Amino acid sequence: MSSTTPDETMPCPCGLGTPYAACCGPIHEGKPAPTAAQLMRSRYSAFALGQSDYLLSSWHASTRPAELELDEDTRWLRLIIDASDQGGPFDTVGTVTFTAIGRTPAGRFEQRERSNFVRDGGNWFYVDGIEPA
Ligand SMILES: [Zn+2]
Repeated sequence: MSSTTPDETMPCPCGLGTPYAACCGPIHEGKPAPTAAQLMRSRYSAFALGQSDYLLSSWHASTRPAELELDEDTRWLRLIIDASDQGGPFDTVGTVTFTAIGRTPAGRFEQRERSNFVRDGGNWFYVDGIEPA
């Protein structure tokens, strides 16, 4: 498994324009994401950086796959958070609707998903997602 060593000063892949070290970097290193939307961003960044261990550890145990193989041919270009509902510091559930834009050798694609998150023991976790209507 290959994973990119993140450059701490690069703009965070999640697209907020903040350096990685001040955005998703600390969350990848174990700092709890304060909101479901930030956990969503950190998971997108982990996809972009090939950090499958983080993707598994931020996946709720009830739905977590045994292993996760990332497609090496996919390059993630951009994340757009379309909507988020609940998922705040005082909530225990939240949903985030997003569009992730990527590219494979076959061309550019968009993936839309409405993801469900739960807060468990002070940390947000990804549960599952559906394609929004
Ligand atoms: Zn980020």
